[in-house]
Amino acid sequence: MTIQCNPHAKPRAPGDVTFLGAGPGDPELLTLRALKLLEAARVVIHDRLVSPEILALINPAAKILEAGKRGFGPATPQTRINALIVAEARSGQPVIRLKGGDPVLFGRLDEEIDAVEGAGLQWQIVPGITAASAASAAIGQSLTRRARNGSVRFITGHDMEGFADHDWRALSQPGTVTAVYMGKAAARYLQGRLMMHGGRPDTPVTLVENASTPHERILGSTLARFPVDLAEAALEGPALILLGLAPRAAQAARPETLHHQEELVAHAP
Ligand code: SAH
Repeated sequence: MTIQCNPHAKPRAPGDVTFLGAGPGDPELLTLRALKLLEAARVVIHDRLVSPEILALINPAAKILEAGKRGFGPATPQTRINALIVAEARSGQPVIRLKGGDPVLFGRLDEEIDAVEGAGLQWQIVPGITAASAASAAIGQSLTRRARNGSVRFITGHDMEGFADHDWRALSQPGTVTAVYMGKAAARYLQGRLMMHGGRPDTPVTLVENASTPHERILGSTLARFPVDLAEAALEGPALILLGLAPRAAQAARPETLHHQEELVAHAP
């Protein structure tokens, strides 16, 4: 057994790197610690996912660099991002690596930590609110529920090899709740895999685009229909797919017609 004091609990000397969670988009969903660090920042390297409202909170004197990735679009290679973080931190200023949501989910955090550690630099992580939390809040649903699901999965729709493989049989079980990140382009694939493994066509599937922002949109659908609904809705922003959950109001209003449900609700801020 090893018992350790947390070596990453406190900010340290200049030259350190802070992996900072920016949350899902709404600046009010930043942590207080994130806000303080952004207001005092000297160098910020941020993802494309970070909203303009949050970038506006950064110390105006700070150097702000974008090192982004987006779905299948143009991207800064990870090695370049790692090198940029290290180069900036070595120049003596504390660096904030600002990432959408929570940096510990689907953010290639380990690769960046390895690069920073490999350069002999100190680092810390400041968590943020992840997109799945914002999306489930938007639809008024709990991600877990007694007697329905005692676990919830966070999965990615695609990885470096293409569409990501998962335990489809487990994901297809009734009552299962799964938050799919980066899933828009994988919708047909997800549907095919789940149905092939016994997923029921009327399983609720909800897409939440731009969760927590004024551009938030909620698309309630089913396993049978969601790729079609998704294509028709032409979502452009980041979207989270919640497998196994319907928007609460829709579920309460029309439980028996859940499998016919297709609705696009523009959400008032
Ligand atoms: N670290 C981030 C996830 C990065 S992966 C987090 O914890 O949220 C990027 C994916 O996150 C997007 O493709 C999308 O699926 C999801 N995402 C991020 N922000 C979102 C938002 N505001 N609304 C819906 N989905 C979002």
